[in-house]
Amino acid sequence: MYDVIILGAGASGLFLAEFLKNKKILIIEHNSKIGEKIKISGGGKCNITNKYVNYKNYYPESEFVKNTLQKAGNKELLKWIKNKGLKVYELKEGQYFFKSSQDILNVLQPGCKVLLNTEVLEVKEGFEVVTDKGVFKSKNVVVALGGRSYKKLGASEKGYEIAKNFGHTITPLKPALVGFTVQPQENWFKKLSGVSLRADVYVSDKKFSQNILFSHRGITGPAVLNASLYWEKGRIKIDFLSGKKLEEFLTKGHKQITTQLPLPKNFVKEFLKSIGLDDKKVKFLNTNEWEMLKHLENYEFAPAGTFGFERAEVTKGGVNLNEINRYMESKKVKGLYFIGEVLDVTGELGGYNFQWAFSSAYLAFLGLSL
Ligand SMILES: Cc1cc2nc3c(=O)[nH]c(=O)nc-3n(C[C@H](O)[C@H](O)[C@H](O)COP(=O)(O)OP(=O)(O)OC[C@H]3O[C@@H](n4cnc5c(N)ncnc54)[C@H](O)[C@@H]3O)c2cc1C
Repeated sequence: MYDVIILGAGASGLFLAEFLKNKKILIIEHNSKIGEKIKISGGGKCNITNKYVNYKNYYPESEFVKNTLQKAGNKELLKWIKNKGLKVYELKEGQYFFKSSQDILNVLQPGCKVLLNTEVLEVKEGFEVVTDKGVFKSKNVVVALGGRSYKKLGASEKGYEIAKNFGHTITPLKPALVGFTVQPQENWFKKLSGVSLRADVYVSDKKFSQNILFSHRGITGPAVLNASLYWEKGRIKIDFLSGKKLEEFLTKGHKQITTQLPLPKNFVKEFLKSIGLDDKKVKFLNTNEWEMLKHLENYEFAPAGTFGFERAEVTKGGVNLNEINRYMESKKVKGLYFIGEVLDVTGELGGYNFQWAFSSAYLAFLGLSL
């Protein structure tokens, strides 16, 4: 009989195992290695947290996240990193990275028993964890099985299934931090595959001033990935001039449009084609043509959809927070905990999701230590 069985050796499960030192713990993981997402995250450098972590960077915005971050936020995570002798460096948007993801993976190597290549099939009351390698008993079970995104790295829907079997509700699951596919009107985006530029992307009541990247499927890049977190069908807006006005650039009447805009030339050419306008000297633009060009300041369109769960960094939606206490324990079943992405908490791009893995694991640790 174990004190705690942690299901999943991903970010949240590994943090929890690290905190829970004096208990008899078992970790069950179906991959052949621990922390597969950590390994490849942040381009192999793991964007672990952010200087500006705030509950407003999470969807849905909630008191639950606010209270959790107050107890275990970025200060606590950075302190933990320092105490472990690890070093992070900060990028200009406040993201903290390691030199290599392996740095943190080395520290997160669990000191407890870990069963790799072992599939969690079911959890029965009591608790009995049924796997393809046998049944394991424990007083407490922590579901740290992550979301649906990136199946090739081990993601499954098992966490949600276990929650449902114990009477929990799951808010709708959607791919998030993912690119948008486009409708035929925006097919010109595809011709710009590989072109990147800085822009302001507006969605719901949020604005993201970061790079966008055109791709053969539509549009992606940091600002778009962030927008996808708040997108619920309908239109989004891009200001390709980042808050500046067209008139500030098109000042020389005898010069062509393409030579005066602070945007990649091929982008301007494709944009002009999409509105049926030839590149011409600015003095020859009529009022109607000026109006069409003004769309560069507020290009509105409705994405067709997203690149899907296989390309989404995270899954939006999950175990309903109203059914979880502040220590991440189920209000329905004592001793059953949920941490990390399986919960209905999704952070923006920039280290917010590993922060959540840490924060929720820390609160579960407090709960399990009571
Ligand atoms: C490509 C990519 C890059 C990312 N980069 C960043 C970044 O730089 N910064 C950031 O903050 N976030 C990043 N994220 C998001 C971050 O990785 C996740 O939010 C975080 O890992 C969630 O932690 P978790 O413990 O909830 O789930 P996971 O880390 O996904 O762990 C879940 C574990 O459960 C295992 N599992 C699933 N089903 C079963 C089963 N039935 N039986 C046994 N084991 C099972 C999985 O194999 C996995 O190891 C990235 C995600 C992706 C896909």
